[in-house]
Amino acid sequence: METLGVLLTVPMNQYLEEELDSRYNLFRLWETPPESRLDFLRAHAGSIHALVGDTNVVADAETIDALPRLEIVSTFSVGLDKIDLHKCRERGIRVTNTPDVLTDDVADLAIGLAIAVLRRIPQADRYVRCGSWKAKGNYQLTTKFSGKPVGIIGLGRIGMAVAKRAEAFGCSISYHSRSEKPDTNYKYYSNVLDLAANCQVLIVACSLTPETRHIVNREVMDTLGPKGVLVNIGRGQHVDEPELVKALVEGRLGAAAIDVFEQEPLVPEELFGLDNVVISPHAGSDTLETCKAMADLVLQNLEAHSSSKPLLTPVL
Ligand code: NAP
Repeated sequence: METLGVLLTVPMNQYLEEELDSRYNLFRLWETPPESRLDFLRAHAGSIHALVGDTNVVADAETIDALPRLEIVSTFSVGLDKIDLHKCRERGIRVTNTPDVLTDDVADLAIGLAIAVLRRIPQADRYVRCGSWKAKGNYQLTTKFSGKPVGIIGLGRIGMAVAKRAEAFGCSISYHSRSEKPDTNYKYYSNVLDLAANCQVLIVACSLTPETRHIVNREVMDTLGPKGVLVNIGRGQHVDEPELVKALVEGRLGAAAIDVFEQEPLVPEELFGLDNVVISPHAGSDTLETCKAMADLVLQNLEAHSSSKPLLTPVL
């Protein structure tokens, strides 16, 4: 039987790369300079049956078109926004992702960021390290997280895990999703503005689609207001980033804690000088435990595909 040819788009996890290398005929896309990648794909098109990508590079229309023998796209992420699902559907290409195994970590980080920005944990750490505690005395008073009204955009797997954690901190929970969830007592708002008007900590946890791009716009930020906190652990494009910078600089929005950006790894430099901002480098699921579980899920899906068994986490 022909060995499965697997295209790995970016270096994402050493264990996954080693396992793919030992099991399959592995092609590493990033080793070819960007301007020659299409030629590289065309040269190996006859041997590539599977594509493994992550939140940075997965399968756009051009890549899929260059690979006529592509059978499966397996992403090392739960988000599907970097995959041309329409094209995959059209071509009958299977798609898998890594849901559930990363939910706890991303929810932990969302709560961690909310507490970090309200209690100014990184800022206080810097205050001690640079000798200010000794020289100037105690750090400024900060703001409480426990008991704050929390609004969640997207009450899916991660949103629900965030809600459960926030409940344990005595927070009241409200949410906005496409549909109301009948099996929760959390307050549902059918539009984001009403949600923003009725919470103090707004956490973005929905999937990125054309409909949710810039779901947090200037109006939403102004509604959240000078005492409001925005936490984004969804995708950078959920938030209008230039408007976010302006809202924070002008004090129209109280604070922000952000794990994801519009043009990663580029972060607007204006944010670096702001004390009411906590920044994290798209690290929601980046723990040793979860990345191993995500890698195993990618490997199990490829294994199932190559032995004609049901996929573990099929999207298509
Ligand atoms: P999920 O279970 O599919 O949940 C997605 C949620 O988004 C659902 O509640 C859905 O609402 C909501 N949604 C979709 N379209 C919407 C719209 N037009 N308006 C309002 N809400 C909408 O996915 P998940 O596993 O929780 O993951 C959610 C997202 O988190 C991923 O897509 C990814 O972008 C992000 N993520 C980030 C990191 C990180 O490192 N920061 C890691 C993992 C995931 P309905 O329930 O009503 O359909």
